[in-house]
Amino acid sequence: MLTPQDIISGIKSYTEKVDDELIRRAYIFALEKHGTQVRESGEPFFSHPVEVAEILMFLKMDQNTVIAGLLHDTMEDTDATIEEIVENFGQQIANIVDGVTKLSKFEMSSIAEKQTENFKKLLLSAASDIRVLIIKLSDRLHNMRTLKFKKKKLRRMYIAKETLEIYAPLAERIGMTSIKEELQDIAFMELYPDIYKSIKSRLKHLYDVSEQIVVTITTELETLANSIDISCTISGRLKSPYSIWEKMNVRNISFEQLSDIMAFRIIVDTIPQCYQMLGIIHRNYLVVPGRFRDYISTPKNNSYQSLHTSVIGPLNKRIEVQIRTKEMHIVAEYGVAAHCDYKTNGSIKSKKSYDYQWLRNLVNILENTSNMEEFLSNSRTEMLSDTVFCITPKGTIMSLPRGASVLDFAYAIHSDIGNHAAVAKVNGKPVSLKTVIENGDQVEISVNQTQFPKPEWESCVSTIKAKTSIKKALNSLEKERIEIIGKSNFDEFFQKHEINISDQDIDLISKTLKFESLSRMFYSIGVTQITIHDVLQTYNKLKNSNIELANEDFEKPKTVNTNERIIFGIPNIPVIPVSCCTPVPGDKIIGVIRGNNGIEIHVEKCPLFKGLEKDQDVKIIDLSWSRNAFENETKYIAKVNIVAEYEPGNLSKIAEVVENRCGNIVSLRISEKFENFVQLHLEIEVSDIAQLTMIIASIRSMVFVNEVTRW
Ligand code: MN
Repeated sequence: MLTPQDIISGIKSYTEKVDDELIRRAYIFALEKHGTQVRESGEPFFSHPVEVAEILMFLKMDQNTVIAGLLHDTMEDTDATIEEIVENFGQQIANIVDGVTKLSKFEMSSIAEKQTENFKKLLLSAASDIRVLIIKLSDRLHNMRTLKFKKKKLRRMYIAKETLEIYAPLAERIGMTSIKEELQDIAFMELYPDIYKSIKSRLKHLYDVSEQIVVTITTELETLANSIDISCTISGRLKSPYSIWEKMNVRNISFEQLSDIMAFRIIVDTIPQCYQMLGIIHRNYLVVPGRFRDYISTPKNNSYQSLHTSVIGPLNKRIEVQIRTKEMHIVAEYGVAAHCDYKTNGSIKSKKSYDYQWLRNLVNILENTSNMEEFLSNSRTEMLSDTVFCITPKGTIMSLPRGASVLDFAYAIHSDIGNHAAVAKVNGKPVSLKTVIENGDQVEISVNQTQFPKPEWESCVSTIKAKTSIKKALNSLEKERIEIIGKSNFDEFFQKHEINISDQDIDLISKTLKFESLSRMFYSIGVTQITIHDVLQTYNKLKNSNIELANEDFEKPKTVNTNERIIFGIPNIPVIPVSCCTPVPGDKIIGVIRGNNGIEIHVEKCPLFKGLEKDQDVKIIDLSWSRNAFENETKYIAKVNIVAEYEPGNLSKIAEVVENRCGNIVSLRISEKFENFVQLHLEIEVSDIAQLTMIIASIRSMVFVNEVTRW
């Protein structure tokens, strides 16, 4: 643990203004206040503020910020009061500590419950003194670094999720790239340990084999720079595990298909040299179209500046190149911390102040208005890039994932409101339920008890709560529909035979057939689990009568097409089994009818009938999965093809990954085997596409796996 002297000499290494005595006093104050408190790791609690202070020194923060870092948990966790801190360390440090304490309170309530007042405080304190936010991020970083000591797994996962959703975007927003990346990587490791490990080991493997490549490329780029008399520093690096995972996820591609795992950074002295360097690279290598960005003339709004380009570089490798000056580099790594002006209360250097205008505007609005509407219309910041905040008519702030629709919002309030949502208004204007919510929207839902969920609703929601509620509601609607069909078959039969059957008799029949309720019996008739003939026999027995089925009763009764319970849209013809593709619920599917034999069900991507649309004799119809397909226990077999390095033990590693995701391998075949590669064909039992996607992603991220495909 750092001593007071370590901290003093640490700060002195980058700034002159240091009050040795004040730092010593703060150190002892925090030490005494935290006393015998211990962290879950068993370490004394005091080690936490000291390590937060160390992170702040790494960011080259001024003395007062480091002191506030030492004190940041005293008000929250000990009996220290703000008066005490003002008295001992002055108003400025006390204000910063107070700001951090307020942010911590915000942290305690769950994200969905966070209210306007807290949200305001968060923004206010963060924006009026940016150092509060920097301490908060350093605090979170240290808590993440020591996350593994927390015993409760759920708590760890909650903290990791919150870090990904709130703190990493905040760090990015103020340009602190290195902190953002570390936060994301630790959170990623906590949430998806197996995927993290395998990406990490793939990267290590890649680095081992490409170390020489990096050196060669660096040297060649250096030679180019020397040829136009530019001295520069070039570094080649691999991207972080989380950013790779994000790319694999967003673009739905495998590790191999990622082209820009390798990035080169060229740091030069002046802006003109940036462009000269870019020019000579573009003249010497093939430029990958569409990848050039000039963030020097148009900086990102977190004030990041750089030139980005991708080229087919030395050794014919596709590489990403970033060119920037030293000054830009510091801003890129430390963001807003790089241009804090400590003399003016932690505000941003006037030269750069326009960058943070959005933050300042927001503070002005919050401080000067109590008008909710004005607040809402002005608070559409890009603070949290993965989350949107919207407001209920009562003024409660709701947070939803970006991309959520008005319907998601309705279900987030209550599943009843979602199920009966009829009309929606966003900011006072009527909109469709599909409308995607934007930050700061005020959303209002009117319900109508005669409204019920429709199948197409499933495709316009993205939250899990809305999805499951819609499935559940549709499922019970479907049950009701089948019951009605069953009942009408039943009634129709007895009317036709002019039998006046009493309610008691119907009850009796149901009981004799061992149904727990009337509706269960009608449901069974609806799906032809039992027939009218069964009902009639029971009736005859009970009544000692001898009614026989008439001829017309053998005509096909109205029933529910059994296929329809899993797949919608199949006409009433036989289904022909196919072996080319194996759709699982969630796959896009179509029906193919050739001749009069029946219908084949294929995935839309099935290679077998590409081009069939043009064939006159072939009819293709749209099909869709019903929610029953997702809800019932049925398992579906999915085929997965894998190309992998052949090594003893690899097969069992794949099997283990599949098992971890609750998949069941029902068959495994090796179709081709080269010297050190095998082509595997797996058949895996899964419930739906979500489970299969996770399995494929996990296999894809294994070190020795080269390719995973389904067809
Ligand atoms: Mn803390």
